Amino acid sequence: MAVPKKKTSQSRRNMRRSHHALSAMAHNECKNCGELKRPHHVCSHCGQYDGREVVESTAS
Ligand SMILES: [Zn+2]
Repeated sequence: MAVPKKKTSQSRRNMRRSHHALSAMAHNECKNCGELKRPHHVCSHCGQYDGREVVESTAS
């Protein structure tokens, strides 16, 4: 098994992790109810997608 020759310094480790931050999830307003939903996903509030009800809505 390949083994690192030297211990990774705090600086190197932190430089590597500088790319690990999470970005905010994409979201749009639902055309039907106005709630925030993820693009290309069925609305979790009203169960609509592309102007028609796909899943029976749980709320309201
Ligand atoms: Zn909706």
